[in-house]
Amino acid sequence: GSIKRCSTAAALEELIFPPVQISYTQNLIDGKFVDAASGKTFPTYDPRTGEVIARVAEGDAEDINRAVAAARKAFDEGPWPKMSPYERSRILLRFADLVEKHSEELAALETWNNGKPHEQAAKSELPLLIRLFHYYAGWADKIHGLTVPADGPHHVQTLHEPIGVAGQIIPWNFPLIMFAWKVGPALACGNTIVLKTAEQTPLTALYVAKLFHEAGLPPGVLNVVSGYGPTAGAALAGHMDVDKVAFTGSTDTGKIVLELAAKSNLKPVTLELGGKSPFIVCEDADIDKAVELAHFALFFNQGQCCCAGSRTFVHERVYDEFLEKAKARALKRVVGDPFKKGVEQGPQIDSEQFEKVLRYIRSGIESNATLECGGDRLGTRGYFIQPTVFSNVTDDMLIAKDEIFGPVQSILKFKDLDEVIRRANATRYGLAAGVFTQNMDTANTLTRALRTGTVWVNCFDVFDAAIPFGGYKMSGIGREKGIYSLHNYLQVKAVVTPLKNPAWL
Ligand code: NAD
Repeated sequence: GSIKRCSTAAALEELIFPPVQISYTQNLIDGKFVDAASGKTFPTYDPRTGEVIARVAEGDAEDINRAVAAARKAFDEGPWPKMSPYERSRILLRFADLVEKHSEELAALETWNNGKPHEQAAKSELPLLIRLFHYYAGWADKIHGLTVPADGPHHVQTLHEPIGVAGQIIPWNFPLIMFAWKVGPALACGNTIVLKTAEQTPLTALYVAKLFHEAGLPPGVLNVVSGYGPTAGAALAGHMDVDKVAFTGSTDTGKIVLELAAKSNLKPVTLELGGKSPFIVCEDADIDKAVELAHFALFFNQGQCCCAGSRTFVHERVYDEFLEKAKARALKRVVGDPFKKGVEQGPQIDSEQFEKVLRYIRSGIESNATLECGGDRLGTRGYFIQPTVFSNVTDDMLIAKDEIFGPVQSILKFKDLDEVIRRANATRYGLAAGVFTQNMDTANTLTRALRTGTVWVNCFDVFDAAIPFGGYKMSGIGREKGIYSLHNYLQVKAVVTPLKNPAWL
């Protein structure tokens, strides 16, 4: 097909520069900002231009060693795990208050380093970050074991103890939200942490880690190291003194992390990986709502969501109407400087992701999917991509199989429920699904048949703190958020004592 432009590049000519200082670029180890052991630094970029905005300490295995030693000491000697849970809860709440106070700088920094729309960062992600820490502060003093019935004269109880030093490796698509999903439950349960940020987005985690210390977090409890995956990340996943590792990122890297954990000390691993989530529009769906939410499900955050609704399945009876409206919606999408009001889509994170998404678009064209709109970069600098819609996509095409992680919507046609269930499940992934129908029976059939960790019915991307999130199949191991996330950071100890002359068992 011929390539049609979706949006104007006018918004890209003059960029707004945020009034924010980059104050923290060193690693935070044992409560202090320090240079990398090697003295090396690496650049971090503004994805609107590809220009360097700061140089950041480049941590590697030696910095991870130092951070793990600090976390180990803070765990073994306290005071953190020995503090009253209420005191820990108060520190989490004080931290949330400080985040609120510094919300403006944090939202600006998040947009500058990541490229996401500033309105999204300021109005939804910062409030969610605060909400997540309120939620976990609420759990800190409600974690307890059970009294267990025994067959003989024994008193049996379980203690839910912190697991120890948690190694956490996070991605670049939601730097602050990923920080909260990992750090919140680990701290609430009394663990200490070494967190490695994504090399693309180190800035906001360092900023909030500083706020945590202002809130009264003892030194060594939360250590943040910036650096690359194969050096710093691998050292953390394979460290003998790390008791648990939690990772979010690609499925390929998840396998490496699991292997490193197995080859070192068999530390338990939770993984939150990729997806190819189906978004199913049934013939009785409210089409206008389905169009809008399918658009949001795919294009939100520049398409850089692990749970992006990247296979839009539409029933054949409503396919033509849906397609026309989906294309019109994509053509209206406002792409530009993420600091400008009303901009819905900023640049992709970096040149690697940008090139990868463009390669998938070419592959879609070559495999004879119909390019309805978009299909190219936008402007001449930075990593902006036109909102792209493909129709007549079939299951065997690469764009229907691989995680693209960009603003590329693939629309597929289906005839009946059995068929769409089979096709939706015919993937190695199983992260999320969207279901659009007004029929309760159809909704019930689909929600139970789909092999995914989340099913959103007539909605998408609802991310409350209490809702568990995670993958079936190769989308991951374990759940984050909600009560389920606590299990990742607790050990269960059974304590058995004999009962002398008990009145009852
Ligand atoms: P990645 O999985 O390589 O990176 C995620 C994190 O893992 C980063 O902190 C990185 O430094 C670290 N890492 C990389 N190699 C490592 C190793 N050998 N040992 C330990 N840690 C390591 O992801 P990426 O290269 O940034 O992106 C590639 C693709 O991953 C994307 O196109 C997308 O499909 C997917 N992705 C998924 C998510 C998600 O939320 N599930 C987030 C980002 C990227």
